[in-house]
Amino acid sequence: TKLPGDPVLENTRRQVTKACFSYVTPKQTAAPELLHASPEMLKNLGLSEADSKGEAFLKVFTGNKVLPNTKPYAMCYGGYQFGNWAGQLGDGRAINLFEVQHNNQNWQVQLKGAGETPYSRTADGLAVLRSSVREYLCSEAMFHLGVPTTRALSLSLSGDQVLRDVLYNGNSAYEKGAIVCRTAETFLRFGSYQIFAARQDNKTLKTLVDYTVKQHFSHLGTPSKDTYLAFFQEVSERTLDMIIHWQRVGFVHGVMNTDNMSILGLTIDYGPYGWLEGYDYGWTPNTTDRQHKRYRFGNQANIGLWNLIQLANAIYPLIDEAEPLEAILNQYKIDFEVKLLNMMRTKLGLQKEDENDQKLILELEDILHQTETDMTIFFRNLSNFKKENPLEGIQVITEAFYKPEAIEGDLKSRWLKWFESYAKRLGLETFSDEDRSKKMNNVNPKYVLRNYMAQLAIDDADKGDYTLIDQLFNMLKEPYSEQPEYQQWFAKRPEWARHKVGCSM
Ligand code: AMP
Ligand code: MG
Ligand code: MG
Repeated sequence: TKLPGDPVLENTRRQVTKACFSYVTPKQTAAPELLHASPEMLKNLGLSEADSKGEAFLKVFTGNKVLPNTKPYAMCYGGYQFGNWAGQLGDGRAINLFEVQHNNQNWQVQLKGAGETPYSRTADGLAVLRSSVREYLCSEAMFHLGVPTTRALSLSLSGDQVLRDVLYNGNSAYEKGAIVCRTAETFLRFGSYQIFAARQDNKTLKTLVDYTVKQHFSHLGTPSKDTYLAFFQEVSERTLDMIIHWQRVGFVHGVMNTDNMSILGLTIDYGPYGWLEGYDYGWTPNTTDRQHKRYRFGNQANIGLWNLIQLANAIYPLIDEAEPLEAILNQYKIDFEVKLLNMMRTKLGLQKEDENDQKLILELEDILHQTETDMTIFFRNLSNFKKENPLEGIQVITEAFYKPEAIEGDLKSRWLKWFESYAKRLGLETFSDEDRSKKMNNVNPKYVLRNYMAQLAIDDADKGDYTLIDQLFNMLKEPYSEQPEYQQWFAKRPEWARHKVGCSM
C-alpha cells in the first residue's frame, strides 16, 4: 500500500487535504556539530561508532545532506489539545528522512528541529539545545527503564541561533539551535487518523488504517471490520501498558494531547515532561497546565482512556457499530484497575495476590501524600526492609523524606502501623528478604533523569561542556543497577531546584 502524498512539493505553510504527508527539504544549517550519538541506536541501524564520527553522518543527521534516492517528508495530523479539537497540526518541526531495515526491525529515521514544513503554522520549525538535550537523554533513558518509547540516535548543534521566549521573565532571547535524530517503527499518532475523520475524508482514513494494519499490525490479518476492532483493542492495550510503566517509574508526560499519542503505544514527544520527586498524584511539570492539571501524574491513565475514546470516534466510520468499540473501552477500565494493582504489588515485592493488598497500597499512598516523600528513593530503599524488623522500617526509608515532620507525631505512628501490616503481608510470601530485594530492584529504578539533572547538563552544554550529557547518558543505561560510581545522583532534589521545571520549546 502506498499512502497518498501532498501534490505540492515545497515547505510553505498550508492546509494539506487528502494526503498523509508532504515532501519537504530540511534546512541547511550554519555550522553543524555532533554532540552525542547513542551506541545502542547506532547498532540497531547497522552503523558503527566510527561511522558516527564521519562527515557524512554529521551532514545527514543534521539535514545538511539528503541521501540519494530518499525523499524526506513531514506527516499530516490533527489533535485534541487539552480537550479541544485543534484542527491540522502535523510535523511542524519533524522531518522523516528515510526508513532503515536491519536485523528484522524497521526504523523510521526522523530529524526534530530541521526547519519549517507545511505544518509549522506560526512557529519556526526549529529546536533549541535545551529541549533537545531533554529529549535525547530521556528517550534513551526510558528505553533502558523498559518503557515503550521512541528512541534517539543523535544530538547535534545546528550552529544557528534560535529566538525563544524565555519562560518566567517573558523576554525573548537567542538560544543555540539543535537537532535530535529520533527513530521509531512509526511515528503515526491518534491524530494521524483523527484529521481525516474530522474532515469526513473516509477514503483517506481507510487507506491509512489499512496501511497501518498491513505495515505495523500484520499479525492481525488482512483488513476487515474484525481486524479494525482487533487493531483498536491492541492500541488500547498498548496505551494502557505504556501508562502503567509511566506510573511505575514516576514519569509524567505533561502534554498527552492526542497528537502525542503513538499508535504503537510508544512514549512520544518529550516536551514538558518531568519525573516525580515527591510522590504526588496532583503533580504536573507543565507550567501551562497548572490550573486544571489535566495531565497530572494521577490522571494519566484516565487521559489515556479519554484519548482512546477520541480514536474510537475517528475510526468508527470504518466499523459502523458502537458496541464492540465500547466493549474495548470498558475493558480498558477493568484492566486499568487490575494492572495498576499488580504493578504496585511488584513495587512492594509482593508476588502472591491477597485480598487486602489494595488496602495496604492505598494506605501507603495516603501516607506518602501527607508530606513530600521522594518516590524513587522511597521504593528503592524499601527493598532493604526486613520483615523480622518492622520497627526499623522508618530507618530504611528515612532518606526519602524532604521534611522531618514526615516521621514525627501522628505520621510516625501511621508509618509504624503500616510497616507492621507490610511485614505481616510479606509473611504470606514464600521467598526470602534477599530474593524480594532483588526482584524489587528490578522494577524500582535507582537512577532516573531528575529535572534538575537534565538542567545541569543543559547549563554545561550551553557553555560548550558535554561531559555531563555523556555521564548521565551512561548512568541511565543501567537504571536498576547499583552503580556506586554514580551514587551522587541517587539523592533528593537539591533545594535550589525546587521550583525549576523543564520546558518544551
Ligand atoms: P507539541 O505540543 O510539542 O506536541 O506540538 C504541537 C504542534 O506544534 C505540533 O504540530 C508540532 O509540530 C508543532 N510545533 C511545536 N514546536 C514547533 C516549532 N518550533 N516549529 C514548528 N512547529 C512546532
Ligand atoms: Mg507533539
Ligand atoms: Mg513537542
